[in-house]
Amino acid sequence: MKQIACNNRTMVRWQKILLLLLLTALFLLLARIGARHYFRETAVQPGTFPVMIGRVFALWALALMLLQPLLAMRFRFLDRLFGLDRLLRLHRMAGIVSLTLAFLHPMLIYVSGLKRAGPLNAGQWPEALGGIGLAGLWLLIVSSCWRQFLELKYDSWLKLHRYAGPVAFFALVHMFAIESAMRKGWLAAFWLVTLLLWAGLLIAQKKLRLGRGNASEAFVVASADVAAENVWRIELKPAGENAVFKFIPGQFAFVSFENAQPGPEEHPFTIASAPAGATGLQFLIKASGDWTAQLASVRVGDQARVSGPFGVFSPWRHDVERLILIAGGIGITPMLSVLRQLREEKSALPVKLVWTFQSRAGAPCLDEIADLRQFLPGFEFVAVATRESSVDVEAHRRLDKQALTKIMPEYQPGTMVMVCGPAPMMLAIRRDLMAMGYPQRAILSEEFAF
Ligand SMILES: Cc1cc2nc3c(=O)[nH]c(=O)nc-3n(C[C@H](O)[C@H](O)[C@H](O)COP(=O)(O)OP(=O)(O)OC[C@H]3O[C@@H](n4cnc5c(N)ncnc54)[C@H](O)[C@@H]3O)c2cc1C
Repeated sequence: MKQIACNNRTMVRWQKILLLLLLTALFLLLARIGARHYFRETAVQPGTFPVMIGRVFALWALALMLLQPLLAMRFRFLDRLFGLDRLLRLHRMAGIVSLTLAFLHPMLIYVSGLKRAGPLNAGQWPEALGGIGLAGLWLLIVSSCWRQFLELKYDSWLKLHRYAGPVAFFALVHMFAIESAMRKGWLAAFWLVTLLLWAGLLIAQKKLRLGRGNASEAFVVASADVAAENVWRIELKPAGENAVFKFIPGQFAFVSFENAQPGPEEHPFTIASAPAGATGLQFLIKASGDWTAQLASVRVGDQARVSGPFGVFSPWRHDVERLILIAGGIGITPMLSVLRQLREEKSALPVKLVWTFQSRAGAPCLDEIADLRQFLPGFEFVAVATRESSVDVEAHRRLDKQALTKIMPEYQPGTMVMVCGPAPMMLAIRRDLMAMGYPQRAILSEEFAF
C-alpha cells in the first residue's frame, strides 16, 4: 500500500505542475495581449460563432462565480443534503471551471476578429476591469489548488480567498458595461433577480450566524490531556446552562479557542463522543501543523467556540444491517463516536472495526476499543500496526489488498463500509473493495481535508 500511495503522490504532483504551467502560460498570453493592446470594435458583426460561444462562456463563468457563496458558506440545509465536504469539493471544481471559461471568453472574442488589438486608452476601462477580475480569479484558483505546493498557510490562504467578492464584482461591472444585452429585457431581469438572491443569501447567512442555526456556540474546556503520542483529547462543555447541540455519530464541528494560543482560527474536527446522553463534546486531535501543535497550551476553563454539526459521514443516515469500519490513524475519531453510540444503545448490530495505525503508542483509546467486546456482542476488532509487531490475531502488517481480502467478508446487501484515513489509503481501499464486489453505494468515506 505504501508503494501505491507513493505512486499516487508523485502522479498528483506532476499533474499539478503541468496544470500550473498551463494556466500560467494561458495567463501570461492573455496578460501580454491585455497589457500591450486593447480590444477595439471592428467591422465583424457580433453573431459569428466564436463571439457567441465567447459570450456564453462569459455568462457561465459569471453564473458559476455567483453560485460559489452558496457552496462555501456552510448553509445547514445544503450540508444535510450533500455534506459540507462534498460541497466544498464542488466549490473548488466550480472555481476551476469558471476560471477556464473566463479565460476562453476574451480569447474567443479576440480570435473572432470582433475586437482588435491596439494601444490602451481610458475609454477601455470595462475591458481593463475584466482583465483585473480575470487576474484576481486566477490568483484565487491557483492559490486554492496549489496551496500546499506553494506552502501557503491555511489562514493566509483564507484571508486571500475573501477577495473573491471584489473579483466577482469586477467581472459583473465589466459585463454590464460592455454587453448592452445585459441591461435589457429578460437578461437584465435574470441578473437583477440573481443579484437580489445573492444579497439575500449573504444577509441570511449573517443573521443565521447570530441565531442558533449556523452560529458558533460558546463552550468551556472541561478537560484537556494527552490521549496518545501527538494526540490531544479535549472535552468541551457548553458555557452556562446551554445543552449540547444535536448531532449524529460521524459528524464534525468547527472548533476555535478564545485565548491567543492556539487562537480563534476555526478548524474542523470530528466529534469523537457519542450523542446519547451527551453533556459535552470530545475531540481527539492529532498535532499535524501550526495550530494543532499549540493545543498543548489549552487548559481547563479556557473558552472555546464550536460551530456544528456538519457532515453526512454517518451510518445513522442509512439502513444498515452490518457495519464495517475501516480507519487509518486519527481517522478512528468518527468510528469511535459510532462505537460509543452503539455501546450506549446496547446494540447487537454486527460491527467489524479494522484500524490501521503505526504503533500502539500513537493509537488513542485502544484499550477502550478492545473492551467493547464486552458490551457489543456483534463486535470484532482487527488492529493492524504497521511499525511494530502486530497486535492482531491474524497478524497483518499492512492493510493491503491481500490483508483486506482475508479480513473482509463477502459483500451482502445491507452491509455498510465506512472508511476514514489518509486520502491515498482511502482510494486504495475503495478500489480494492469494489474489486471484491462491494458496490460504490455501500462505501462511505470521509477525508480529513476539504
Ligand atoms: C471533516 C474533517 C474532520 C476532521 N476531523 C479530525 C479529527 O477528528 N482529528 C484530527 O486530528 N483532525 C481532524 N481533521 C483534520 C484537522 O482539521 C486538521 O488536521 C487541522 O485543521 C490542521 O490544522 P493545522 O493548522 O494544525 O495544520 P496545517 O498544517 O496548517 O494544516 C494541515 C491541513 O489541514 C487542513 N486545514 C488546516 N486548517 C484548516 C481550517 N482552518 N479549516 C479546514 N481545514 C484546515 C488543510 O487541508 C491543511 O492542508 C478533520 C478535518 C476535516 C476536514
